[in-house]
Amino acid sequence: MIYLDANATEPLRPESRLAALEALDCVGNPSSPHKAGRAARALLDDARKRVSTRLGVHPDNCVFTSGGTEANTLAVKAVGRNRRILIGATEHDAVRKAADDGELVEWLPVLPDGTIDLAALEKTLARSEAAALVCVMLANNETGVINPIEDVASLCRKTGAWLHVDAVQAVGRVSADIGTLGADSLALSGHKFGGMKGAGALLLAGDAPVVLHPMQAGGGQERGRRGGTQALPAIVSLAAALDAALDQPVDFTGLRDRINAAASCCGATICGEDAPRLHNTSCIALPGVRSEAQLIALDLEGFCVSAGSACSSGKVGGSHVLAAMGLGDLAGNAIRVSLPWNVTEADVSGFIAAYERMARRQSARSSRAQIAPADQIGM
Ligand code: PLP
Repeated sequence: MIYLDANATEPLRPESRLAALEALDCVGNPSSPHKAGRAARALLDDARKRVSTRLGVHPDNCVFTSGGTEANTLAVKAVGRNRRILIGATEHDAVRKAADDGELVEWLPVLPDGTIDLAALEKTLARSEAAALVCVMLANNETGVINPIEDVASLCRKTGAWLHVDAVQAVGRVSADIGTLGADSLALSGHKFGGMKGAGALLLAGDAPVVLHPMQAGGGQERGRRGGTQALPAIVSLAAALDAALDQPVDFTGLRDRINAAASCCGATICGEDAPRLHNTSCIALPGVRSEAQLIALDLEGFCVSAGSACSSGKVGGSHVLAAMGLGDLAGNAIRVSLPWNVTEADVSGFIAAYERMARRQSARSSRAQIAPADQIGM
């Protein structure tokens, strides 16, 4: 089996596994004042400090959560209270659905290349003086398209809007320093860069602790912003994965472009090709061939890739991301290939050969289907 679905979840890094195993042997609850609790607290504090340093926030403003969905939901629910909420059309459901229940959402269009439409954002912000929350992701999970967050931030700054950035697919792959981006908050998820599943964080800009109304108050952990005993093994594994990802950076641009070139030769469209994109992500749409058919064919050949958003896998529907980019019918013909941190050239060569076989078979099938009615008329 060759795993090329890193944007769904990255393989666990050895450093993260080790860190998690050590924490599994730590019996204490980080909130307990005794020796065992203090040992757990020391691990938690160390993880918080490392993550904060890496991404440019004060440790008091790193709120650990169960993952990216919770970090995004907390931002939308807590910051979005009594504000207008402006959400990019290609955001992940973790953001889209967080604002579903009652809050008044204004959707921000994207340009055909998949990047946020800055002119539309500026116009929408100018429409009202009410306080606003703007949600624009750093990198898209389906296409890998990278948004110009610094430009979004400067528009937000002019109007005093709060900018929340879903950086779940970006952390460990492109720079995601909160200060450089100019964001007010940023969501991340450990398993998306090689940590264990079960931990994420909401990072908040500023040197003084930011007060947030929690979704779950519980015992007041995380400075009252997220109650519940912290998942220590997953959290230390997240910190170790972040260190590993940033200390051992990889650049798969060459491998990604080989996949794209081969797919183009088979007649595929590369979604978001004209925009800056993650070096590990290809979103390729083969006209006339349903995503599910491609997935099944490639799975039978031993390659794990995905269609649409893999967080909701099981559901292979048309992609709201590609639809927002104006790709019409192609939205149901796309697959995503996302290279994990441990991918090899041989994996990519094997995938390209399998993709070419699949595309040849599928186009032979669709030309037979087109010939069949004519044959029948002749009979
Ligand atoms: N945001 C983006 C862009 C994602 O791709 C995902 C998952 O794929 C999430 C948020 C949700 O993260 P998690 O799976 O950690 O809840």
